[in-house]
Amino acid sequence: MAAGPRILIENCSIATVDAHDTEYADGYLVLAGNRIEALGAGRAPEGLENVVRRIDASGHLATPGLVNTHHHFYQWITRGLATDRNLFDWLVALYPAWARIDEEMVDAAARGSLAMMVRGGVTTAVDHHYVHPRGSGDLSGTIVRAARETGVRLTLARGSMDLGESDGGLPPDFAVESLDDALAATEATVAEHHDPSFDAMTQVAVAPCSPFSVTTDLLKQGAELARRLGVRLHTHGSETREEETFCHERFGMGPTDYFESTGWLGEDVWMAHCVHMNDSDIAAFARTRTGVAHCPSSNARLAAGIARVPDMLAAGVPVGLGVDGTASNESGELHTELRNALLINRLGPHRETALDARQALRLGTHGGAQVLGRADQIGSLEPGKLADLVLWRLDTLAHASIADPVAALVLGAAAPVTASFVGGRQIVENGRLLHADEDTIARSTRAQAQRLARITEQS
Ligand SMILES: [Zn+2]
Repeated sequence: MAAGPRILIENCSIATVDAHDTEYADGYLVLAGNRIEALGAGRAPEGLENVVRRIDASGHLATPGLVNTHHHFYQWITRGLATDRNLFDWLVALYPAWARIDEEMVDAAARGSLAMMVRGGVTTAVDHHYVHPRGSGDLSGTIVRAARETGVRLTLARGSMDLGESDGGLPPDFAVESLDDALAATEATVAEHHDPSFDAMTQVAVAPCSPFSVTTDLLKQGAELARRLGVRLHTHGSETREEETFCHERFGMGPTDYFESTGWLGEDVWMAHCVHMNDSDIAAFARTRTGVAHCPSSNARLAAGIARVPDMLAAGVPVGLGVDGTASNESGELHTELRNALLINRLGPHRETALDARQALRLGTHGGAQVLGRADQIGSLEPGKLADLVLWRLDTLAHASIADPVAALVLGAAAPVTASFVGGRQIVENGRLLHADEDTIARSTRAQAQRLARITEQS
């Protein structure tokens, strides 16, 4: 098979995040078409044909592109609100605004969320979108288009809520769909946008929102739907003590047992947060290979607690990192979550042995690929995998005095991204997006945030 056009990247450190954590202090990568063809120590082999570009990456660390496993893009236009509340009070404060989003707002918010992540080294992102107000237009199509134009891989977790306040749920009745509408729309979204192929740019998951905003029937039928269609399942789980209490009062069991009883543990499932997990919950996740999206900043912002990531990893639970929605993590960045995951877990019982810098990098790359079911395609730098990678600049004031590049990346200030590639296509150059204009996006997100605030106030 003829290789596609080749790009050579030389003179950089490389952290492959392969099974052996192979690193090269001074190495090269050969990208051919949308794949990684070769990598190793020293210079690239001589005499390669069809080389269209040669990059001198001196002073840089190459890593796999970061994988964001949990986010709510629409929240980009409701940041900085209800800043001192816990999850349930914060949700109740924000639902009235969220229930009034439309296509124009979601378009601006998705582009803002994507831009912020992508210029910080994200190459694959999840949008868990669970607010679909009646008459709000084609929100799924809007999100897919925004991701495609930014150049990033997307897993659209088509979310839903069908348990309104009058039925004992948390969201107001006007913010929820009916069970049948939610299932039909989710199936249609899979049919329209899910691509199962190796180099897919768009995949879709079935993603009812949380135990306190969806019915047991929606969870059960959602799981059946996902398995019939061969797509993954995503939701929020075990985020707060209040959720635990809610599950005990309503279902007579904790969240993990409840999820198991509704078909929601399995290797095709990943769940955001998983903060309040006891030993048997962690064992159940490990036994079933259920994945976790760890969101340390959001958990701190909402005072939810510290997820037991070291215990999950020791038990064999797949764990990735998530920004979470930017209404509870205003920075919207994932590269800073490597550092936050390490720091926050060291405040837990395992103290200085909780996570090291390489484990943090693994969570943000290979771990993320695992929970999205794409570990043989992305998440590490290995021949045959998709060419999703980042060149981090580590020779400036912020990092130049740190000898270990992985320690510099994880523990130091947020490193500038000189270049970022998705499937061999460059999407970031010197910290700026190549296929979208940040200033235009900034203006439209401000305008849409103001429009939403005005509409919410008037109603
Ligand atoms: Zn979330």
